[in-house]
Amino acid sequence: MPLIDSHAHLDFYMETPQDRDEVLRRAYAAGVHTILAIGIGEGPATMHQALEIARSATGAGLPALYASVGIHPQEAVQATAEALTELTRLAADSRCIAIGEIGLDYYHVDNPEPAVQQQAFVAQMKIAAEVQKPILIHCRTSELATPEAKSKFGSADAWEDLLALIATHWTPHHLAGVMHCFSGTVDQGRRSLDAGFYLSFAGNLTYPKSQTIRDAAVMAPSDRILVETDAPFLAPIPHRGQRNEPALVVHTAGTLAALRGISIEELETVTTENFHRLFPATA
Ligand SMILES: [Zn+2]
Repeated sequence: MPLIDSHAHLDFYMETPQDRDEVLRRAYAAGVHTILAIGIGEGPATMHQALEIARSATGAGLPALYASVGIHPQEAVQATAEALTELTRLAADSRCIAIGEIGLDYYHVDNPEPAVQQQAFVAQMKIAAEVQKPILIHCRTSELATPEAKSKFGSADAWEDLLALIATHWTPHHLAGVMHCFSGTVDQGRRSLDAGFYLSFAGNLTYPKSQTIRDAAVMAPSDRILVETDAPFLAPIPHRGQRNEPALVVHTAGTLAALRGISIEELETVTTENFHRLFPATA
C-alpha cells in the first residue's frame, strides 16, 4: 500500500521552475501517493498558495494533493479580522481539509507574546469548528530555548497552555485534530490522545537524541498514528541536514514500523486508514 505524507510545505519548493514538479514526481515514484500541503505560506498574505497547488498539480505520476489553511503562531500578530475573514473563505473550499498549522510556540525569542498567540489560536479553532474540519497543531515549548527566550516566556509551558485552550475551545465541538511533528512527552501524548487527537511523527523520530518521541511513538495506539515529513524541514536520517521532501517519509515510516515491531506494509495500511478516517473527503 502507498504511504501518505500528512504534512508538507509544498509552496516552499521554488528553486527552479520545475522544482516542485520534480519533488512531486519523486514522491509518487517512492510510493507516496497522497500529500497534505500546509497552507500557512510565509504569513496570511500567502496562505492561499497550498490550496492553489493542490488544485493545479494533478495528473498521472503525481500524488493526490489536499491543502490546509492557517496562521502559524509565529505570525500571530498578523491574525487580523481581515486575515481571519480570508482564512474562513479559503477554509470552505472542498480541497481544504484542515485548519493549520496553528497553536503555540514559546521557543523563538522573536515570537509574539503568549497572549497574542493564544488569541490567534482560539480565533482559528472557532473558524475550524464552523467549517467542521480538523485542526493541525504546532506546539513548541521554551524548555530547550535560549536563555533570552526563556526569560521572555517565563515559566509559561506551551503544552499546558495549549491543552487547556483545546479543552475549553475545541473539545466541546467533538472534532478531531493532529499533533503535527509530535515532539512532546509520553504524558503529553496521552493527554493529546484523550482529547481526540492523532499523533503525527516526523523526521526527528529518527534522530539519536529523540528517545522521548520514540517512547511516545511506541505508546500511541495504532488507530491514532500518522507520518509526515514537515518538508522542506527536518529531513530524517540518513538525509539529516539536507532539504527534506515528501519522498523521504519512507525513512520515518520505516523507523516507526521497527519501533512498533510491525512490518512496513502494516504501518502503511494503518496510517493510510487513519488519514482517511480523519479526513473523510480524501477516502
Ligand atoms: Zn509545518
